[in-house]
Amino acid sequence: MGRFDGRVAVITGAARGIGFGTATRFAEEGASVAIVDLDEAAAAEAAAKLPVVEGARAIGVGANVSDSASVDAAVERVVAELGGIHVLVNNAGITRDNLLFKMTEDDWDLVMGVHLKGAFLMAKAAQKHFVEQKYGKIVNISSISALGNRGQANYSAAKMGIQGFTRTLGIELGPFGINTNAVAPGFIATEMTDATAARLKMDVEEFRRLNAEANPVRRVGFPEDIAAAVTFLASDEASYITGQTIYVDGGISLGT
Ligand code: NAP
Repeated sequence: MGRFDGRVAVITGAARGIGFGTATRFAEEGASVAIVDLDEAAAAEAAAKLPVVEGARAIGVGANVSDSASVDAAVERVVAELGGIHVLVNNAGITRDNLLFKMTEDDWDLVMGVHLKGAFLMAKAAQKHFVEQKYGKIVNISSISALGNRGQANYSAAKMGIQGFTRTLGIELGPFGINTNAVAPGFIATEMTDATAARLKMDVEEFRRLNAEANPVRRVGFPEDIAAAVTFLASDEASYITGQTIYVDGGISLGT
């Protein structure tokens, strides 16, 4: 018996990184999984790699989470092909880092569009089904950057916005059997942090080593660390938890 037997989980931005790690965990625990990502071929390729259990399925859906028509079509396709929707993980994300005086309006709009508007559009499309069936789990991916991070005014604002959005959905949707929570990762070894290393003109391994050294638990995080927290919050064991943000960061946000 898996915690997600008979459930359908939709994870955005899951063709790689944290999203793929999370999709893998949902599949291992019995869910049918829809990987939603910008590139349909990449989404389908990732879905084909998931360790789905007997009786469950995995599909890849190409969609842009910051576009309402694309989101509505994606959610309807998931419901039609997988027979419903029970869990939504808003994970899709991008960075457009720069100091404020160099940050362009496009850098701002793009980051807000994917993280904040994307989470809003996906939650809105999914809640229709969740309310009808009086059951649903939403897990939004925030970040320790919500607490402030040099060069990330756009990303930080979006990730703290996610936390306010999560609290509000907790209040609004709780009466309908829907739990909404957030996970705020610290440094997780993915292509996103590899790209940061490249921007800083640092070797990826050296960048990870320095981040591990500075962390209270002396290591960097991996997608599996985030997947464990997300699946807990999406499980029925967490049904009395809503509106919360859990920091999964090895304690780095505690300060020194
Ligand atoms: P990643 O490896 O860059 O993966 C992000 C995925 O999201 C990519 O597959 C990307 O597709 C997809 N995506 C981007 N824009 C999209 C859109 N408009 N619609 C649908 N999909 C879209 O990132 P990650 O490191 O796994 O991060 C996942 C989430 O965790 C993000 O929300 C990120 O902000 C958050 N986070 C990450 C860290 C970390 O240390 N890695 C820390 C804190 C929070 P393309 O490849 O086609 O662009």
